[in-house]
Amino acid sequence: MRFYVNNIKSPLELTGDAHTHAAYSLRVRVGDYITVFDGKGVECSCKVTSVNKDKTCLEIIDTRENVGETKTEYSLYLSVIKQDRFELAVQKATELGVSNIIPVYSSYTQRVGNLNIDRLHKIAISACEQCGRSKVPTIEQPIEFDELLERTKHTHMIFPWEREMHGSLMEAIDNSKSVSVFVGPEGGITEQEKIALVNAGAHSVTLGPRILRAETAAITTLSVICCAMGEWSLD
Ligand code: SAH
Repeated sequence: MRFYVNNIKSPLELTGDAHTHAAYSLRVRVGDYITVFDGKGVECSCKVTSVNKDKTCLEIIDTRENVGETKTEYSLYLSVIKQDRFELAVQKATELGVSNIIPVYSSYTQRVGNLNIDRLHKIAISACEQCGRSKVPTIEQPIEFDELLERTKHTHMIFPWEREMHGSLMEAIDNSKSVSVFVGPEGGITEQEKIALVNAGAHSVTLGPRILRAETAAITTLSVICCAMGEWSLD
């Protein structure tokens, strides 16, 4: 059982949603062992010392850092898509170990409604609780395409482009310490945006002859990169 606590301090207590979840849904009892993590890389094994009406009190047994984290830092720049599809991408990208998730507006993004970033953050937290990561990825407010170019021009950026004929994903992967992935919206990206990305040093790659949904493209691209970068081995 893993619980997210924003700030780990002594004495340690679960309050609010974490307490309700622990005490009432999972029926945690005195003497049980649970794991608490702060979303910034610190994780503690704890023993439950008391369960009260409004809080669960814990004794810290030991502390570890960066459990479940990747060796390389991954950032996902995902075009704004419908909330439920974005949520799926956030959940899966979190499980895969991504550190930053940045929604992007490009020319063909449908600007209907706003993404609910608070809800995306909660989804990332519960994905971390479930998958054993100790850092919760940051989820930013959406940025414009020009800012994407500005921010990624010095990073190793890979972007699957549905009209790319040659660029291979495997060949675009190197041993950079930080990798960014940009995935376009359901409407695709314009020729000018593609040229601007390439001029900024990004690697355009194909994911084959089938057009994937944006969230599928994001999850599969990240999966392949993580596997090729050695994130799927346990040493
Ligand atoms: N409207 C576009 C498809 C956009 S799919 C069309 O009909 O052609 C959304 C995003 O997923 C794309 O911008 C791209 O980043 C990625 N994507 C989907 N399928 C892909 C493929 N086969 N190769 C490369 N990228 C792909």
